[in-house]
Amino acid sequence: MSKIIASAAIRGSHKVFKEAEELLAKIIAEKGEDYVFEFPDTAYYLPMIYGMTGFAVKTVKDMKEALMMTKDLLHPEPDDTVWRPYLGEALDSGMATLFAEEIWLALRYIEGLEPEKDEETGLVYNGYITDTIQRNLGIQLVDGRMPGFAAIIGAAPDDDTAVKIVRELQEKNILVFLSGESNGDSVTKQLQRKGIELGWDVYVVPLGTKTEHTLYALDWAVRASMIFGGMKPGDYKGNLKYQKDRVFAFALPLGPLDDVKWATGAGAINMGFPAVCDTDVPVIHPTGVCSYEEVDKELDHTKIVQKAIEVRGLKILVEKPPVPIAFGSAFEGERVRKEDTFIEFGGSRSPAFEVCIMKDLDDIEDGKIIIKGENWEERYNAGGVLPLGIYVEAAGRKMQPDFEPIIERKLHHNINEGQGIWHMGQRDVNWIRISNSAKNEGFTLEDIGKIHHAMTHNRFSTIVDKVQVTLFIDEEEVLKMREEAREAWKDRDARLGAMNDENVDTFYSCLLCQSFAPSHTCVITPERLGLCGAYNWLDGKAAYEIDPTGGNQPIAKGTVIDDKMGRWEGVDEYIKQSTGGALETMNAYTIMDNPMTSCGCFECIVSILPEANGVMIVQRGHVGMLPIGMKFSTLAGTVGGGVQTPGFMGIGVNFITSKKFLFADGGLKRIVWMTKALKERVKEEFGQRAAEEGVPDLLDKIADESIAEEDSEKLLEHLSAVGHPALEMEPMI
Ligand code: SF4
Ligand code: ZN
Repeated sequence: MSKIIASAAIRGSHKVFKEAEELLAKIIAEKGEDYVFEFPDTAYYLPMIYGMTGFAVKTVKDMKEALMMTKDLLHPEPDDTVWRPYLGEALDSGMATLFAEEIWLALRYIEGLEPEKDEETGLVYNGYITDTIQRNLGIQLVDGRMPGFAAIIGAAPDDDTAVKIVRELQEKNILVFLSGESNGDSVTKQLQRKGIELGWDVYVVPLGTKTEHTLYALDWAVRASMIFGGMKPGDYKGNLKYQKDRVFAFALPLGPLDDVKWATGAGAINMGFPAVCDTDVPVIHPTGVCSYEEVDKELDHTKIVQKAIEVRGLKILVEKPPVPIAFGSAFEGERVRKEDTFIEFGGSRSPAFEVCIMKDLDDIEDGKIIIKGENWEERYNAGGVLPLGIYVEAAGRKMQPDFEPIIERKLHHNINEGQGIWHMGQRDVNWIRISNSAKNEGFTLEDIGKIHHAMTHNRFSTIVDKVQVTLFIDEEEVLKMREEAREAWKDRDARLGAMNDENVDTFYSCLLCQSFAPSHTCVITPERLGLCGAYNWLDGKAAYEIDPTGGNQPIAKGTVIDDKMGRWEGVDEYIKQSTGGALETMNAYTIMDNPMTSCGCFECIVSILPEANGVMIVQRGHVGMLPIGMKFSTLAGTVGGGVQTPGFMGIGVNFITSKKFLFADGGLKRIVWMTKALKERVKEEFGQRAAEEGVPDLLDKIADESIAEEDSEKLLEHLSAVGHPALEMEPMI
């Protein structure tokens, strides 16, 4: 690093350190040293300090101690303290800056200054990023939908440039964090002035107004290695290596750099994240360990995003359908409100449906969009409400009827990924809105067909050769075709319902999360879907057909070793090889003995409650205290990272109502506690399954947070009062 920059970075570190020190003194005076603090919804204390040193900061006193260690990093002396040897060489003043920023931000939380709020516009900045958000986004980061994330610090030269840079990142599905300012302005303010939607739904997240707020993004990065990578707190080498190899982050500092920006940048570089500046900074080349430049510049704002992508080596896979609106999964969460709606279809306002049907290659014409309905153009241009039947026909040499539902499920995403158009539901309960702005951009009815044609090809290139789309807009015809579709759905559901683990000879693996959790493999069977809830057996099968060398591989079941536990020779062999020997064997139908591992993106956690002789189930995002005596965020920390933890397991929601759920442990009747939200979600199928198990009112017997939170006595009282079957079952341990 050049001398000038090094001294700017060191000045910056001292400035941040001083800020933290002053605020610390104030808080100690106000609240005392024993004041307990934790960031919202996290199990990782002050994650940067925790990840790098293993020190769990729980109180203001701990902050004081951590700040002392930071001071030692700033003034390294050969014999200074216990911390120095413990921390090692890799952590220097850059890391010290991040520690000091983290303490300062924590103190600001105690003061009630975080998350920040812009009084003028009412915007509430995100502040600390919770574990829940991290887990929610995990799958998108691993399956390539979200190739990486960018921290923009400062302000663009003008509002339009800010919009262009952010739009370009959004179109590439790169998650954008905003922080800091430059000359009194910031990208957050620039986007607000242009009326651009901000937030998690659109992948643009304002963290705070100062450079120091960038730390929230780095805090989220450092947790990835502990949540998904199974790295231990304090293993700074492991954590740093994971950041460099697997977390595809970069910074775009816009506008002139000051000392704090240099100091924070030095910390980020320490984590392996390069920066591309729009000012004439000295370019800093790698010192050997990094394969890319650490600091680079691009003065042309139309090229800066591309430059950053190259410097960090991101893989971008986006192909845009030929329609006059922007396209990308960043727009998926965007809503179209009633007052912004130009025209809508379905959603109980008009009859509608959407279906995908397999056809023979000779029966359809690729790219043909047929619109059936008198004067359809005028009727569309008039706006309001119209009936709509979307009939997608797909043909291909490798197409199978089993892939119809998979293509059909993507129709939702196809529409939602367009900017200014919105989709909800599926089958005959779908609902589509086209906004005034999309209409003004020139979006037509035909474009709905064009999107489905292009995206079906993009997503299913190796199984689909031809796609033809017909849109019906006359009510009578929509109703008639809807009946036809309903027949097809009925047959399809019957076929899938009859499928079970016994009558197939191949399961599928999902290895997508290995990029995050190298020793985790999801084994997906017809009766057990992936723990993220996003991939079932058919998805695995289709994905394998689409990309035979991809993340889903067939597993030949081979000889059954134990049909009650769910153990097969072929599966054991497969996981041994796919986990590099980390795992020897696995039982699919029990939580007690070599259960399936978890990566970190589980929809729910099942956890044993020994005193109740059963299990509890909680979904990701639940914030209350649990009967196991901790919150979801803490519990989740014990389940991830690709290790087998008997008694604890991550699962997809739909597994709860599978006949194979805890089959070897007594099944459904083992559930003694489940959140209300989960009960509501599984209600219908649960009722059927419970009846099959001979306890039709089981769901009512299961406790939830309104009956007992961490109080196990209350839980037990309830269970015996209602006569819960688990109390009569064989002991779990
Ligand atoms: Fe990850 Fe398993 Fe989901 Fe695949 S199925 S994305 S491995 S959690
Ligand atoms: Zn995962």
